[in-house]
Amino acid sequence: MSLKIALLPGDGIGPEVTEEAVRILKNVAEHSGRAFSFSSHVIGGAAIDGEGTGLPERTLEAALNADAVLLGAVGHPKFDGRLPSERPEAALLALRQALGGFANLRPAIYYAPLAKRTPFQPERVRGANLLIVRELLGGLYFGEPRGFEASGNTAFNTLIYSRHEIERVAKVACDRARERRKKVASIDKANVLETSRLWRAVVSDDAKAYPDVELEHVYVDTAAMRLATAPASFDVMLCDNLFGDILSDQAASISGSLGVLPSATIGGKVDLYEPVHGSAPDIAGKGLANPIGAIASAAMLLRFSANMDKEAAEIDHAIEEALASGARTKDLAGPGDRVLSTRDMGQAIEEALHEVRDRKHSYHGV
Ligand code: NAD
Repeated sequence: MSLKIALLPGDGIGPEVTEEAVRILKNVAEHSGRAFSFSSHVIGGAAIDGEGTGLPERTLEAALNADAVLLGAVGHPKFDGRLPSERPEAALLALRQALGGFANLRPAIYYAPLAKRTPFQPERVRGANLLIVRELLGGLYFGEPRGFEASGNTAFNTLIYSRHEIERVAKVACDRARERRKKVASIDKANVLETSRLWRAVVSDDAKAYPDVELEHVYVDTAAMRLATAPASFDVMLCDNLFGDILSDQAASISGSLGVLPSATIGGKVDLYEPVHGSAPDIAGKGLANPIGAIASAAMLLRFSANMDKEAAEIDHAIEEALASGARTKDLAGPGDRVLSTRDMGQAIEEALHEVRDRKHSYHGV
């Protein structure tokens, strides 16, 4: 049966990078025998321009009826003067809410060929390959009550978590760890916060069902320090909404460019895959965008929505190999490096994918 993928390329560099992700998915379909059917729909600024609303009914319906959604990016400066609810970004928030994913997954990988792009000394980050699992629908960002007191001089938010909210995201983290190096670091501030004490207790209980997964509890401040000094010591980091938001950005610096970071939001009606970067209006339409974040998001789609672990791993290897062989978009290029266009980078990764597959076949043949 064919896997229905709803493409929402969006604005700015969104369509450019999505096209390269689709190129790789088509290549995978050709070589794996799995069929993918793609349908493309407007969202964000492009939808406001064409249909008067950032998330048209037809787009939402297509997303809800798909097996997976692959999104580019939304946003354009011409909407900057509008109320937040009328901007393209509101469409993405509404989409995320409608799809209902509660676990946001963001890998952060150290790519040796990009060592010079990171702010770290190579010996500190060598081997770092971690996955942040962030609770996305609860905690401080959604807790009620929230607001300003009448005086305007006092404001308040509520940090609240229920056992159910913690259990379901903890399960995602432990399941992912099982597929990786079998370690979960649960991040909290249990020495100060009651919600963190509940978090710690529930995660400890849930982890008992995963005796093969090693669980440690780490205070968020210690985690921030360890991410900067010994990121390779982490495998899966399980975080609440606030801590995950902050630590995932910090972890992103390990990779060296915003353009290489993928994400997945899973656990709802339909899973959503998108690069971490925005629509980058400063480089849109110039062929300068790095498509790796979008291509790596497509690999996550294969892993989580299509049960195609082998093909996902091959894409990840192809990205590494393309980088190792010197393929660089402008954001990755150093002085004297040849700069590839978005399309050429997509092609370089597609060629590397062929090589990765060929090599595997020849190993098996020996
Ligand atoms: P941005 O991520 O679009 O760009 C930040 C910087 O990184 C820019 O200099 C850009 O050129 C560069 N960059 C980003 N992606 C790149 C890529 N793939 N290759 C090479 N360089 C890349 O963030 P911003 O400038 O703060 O926001 C621009 C617009 O995107 C805004 O409207 C914002 O609201 C929106 N936005 C959307 C999303 C999303 O759709 N998920 C996320 C963040 C920002």
